[in-house]
Amino acid sequence: MEPPDIERLDERTVQRIAAGEVVERPASVVKELVENSLDAGASRVAVSVESGGTDGIRVRDDGVGIPEDQLDAAVAEHATSKIGDIEDLDRGVGTLGFRGEALYTVGAVSRLTVRSRPPDAEAGAEITVEGGEVGEVRPAGCPAGTTVEVDDLFFNTPAREKFLKRTATEFDHVNTVVTSYALANPDVAVSLEHDGRETFATEGNGDLRSAVLAVYGREVAESMIDVDWTPEGSEADGAADADDAPVKRVTGLVSHPETARSTRDYLSTYVNGRYVTASALREATLDAYGGQLAPDRYPFAVLFVEVPAGDVDVNVHPRKLEVRFDEEPAVRSAVETAVEDALLDHGLIRSTAPRG
Ligand code: ADP
Ligand code: MG
Repeated sequence: MEPPDIERLDERTVQRIAAGEVVERPASVVKELVENSLDAGASRVAVSVESGGTDGIRVRDDGVGIPEDQLDAAVAEHATSKIGDIEDLDRGVGTLGFRGEALYTVGAVSRLTVRSRPPDAEAGAEITVEGGEVGEVRPAGCPAGTTVEVDDLFFNTPAREKFLKRTATEFDHVNTVVTSYALANPDVAVSLEHDGRETFATEGNGDLRSAVLAVYGREVAESMIDVDWTPEGSEADGAADADDAPVKRVTGLVSHPETARSTRDYLSTYVNGRYVTASALREATLDAYGGQLAPDRYPFAVLFVEVPAGDVDVNVHPRKLEVRFDEEPAVRSAVETAVEDALLDHGLIRSTAPRG
């Protein structure tokens, strides 16, 4: 057999292959758009999807907006307003996004419209991208803030489209994403609508328990107890010790052991404000309950762990939520202690051997 020629792929093909790495399903689009709204300082983020997101996704916010002359940059490859260079990245980014590829990527595999008006601009404008084909910037009437609409996701990538699951499954993924951002940002009014029906809407009043009430309902909200842990000595002995501590703080809410479900889906963990799925954090939380949970039952938990910025790697793949800690055993034990202390305080578990 003759060796085949090696040829460089054309730009459109490269673009679509790369897009498939970032945009796996409607929920991945929702995640990117909600992150953009939060990065834009929005106080309201309204998400609505049709048929689990496969027939349409719309995210509207009241954030800083995108000036008309920046709309084409917003949908361009590797274009971002959030970091300037690699040093910015090493210093630690304060925004959820920084790669400048989300809008570009989504535009490559859907019909994307970005419509925006900065609050002090007199008129709004919009730009449309269809399967990577960028259209003209046009004037558009819109409220202050940004609305992004994504239709016909994967219309030009049939292989990816085939892997989409039932509407209910796709919506579950969307719901998980929006819920996790709603709980992480109780000061932002986050709402989710599916096929015209409201799934939940948080008030955005800054109170975590109120966000839990909106998302999980009254029974769960009422059974939640406060977690607030800081390393020993951080207040009494001045800040010196706390500055070196591998975990600076653990806060949040965990449920009464009897308010448990047969899924781990309601254990939400955040590291430095970022939603993560870290098995170490989940296991530490469950360990804290000791024998108080019925077999195969999992509590509700919303836990925020703060670690020094350099101790956690955020520059991971955009689709992977698993984080790596420099000091995993210390993080694990801090979370377990934090939850245990809260449960002990409420008499929900019995004290075991004294901790050293
Ligand atoms: P990144 O978020 O990594 O910067 P994106 O492709 O998601 O990349 O967005 C590109 C740029 O478009 C952002 O840096 C930001 O300047 C602008 N942008 C996107 N969405 C919004 C929004 N909802 N409100 C204001 N600006 C936005
Ligand atoms: Mg982004």
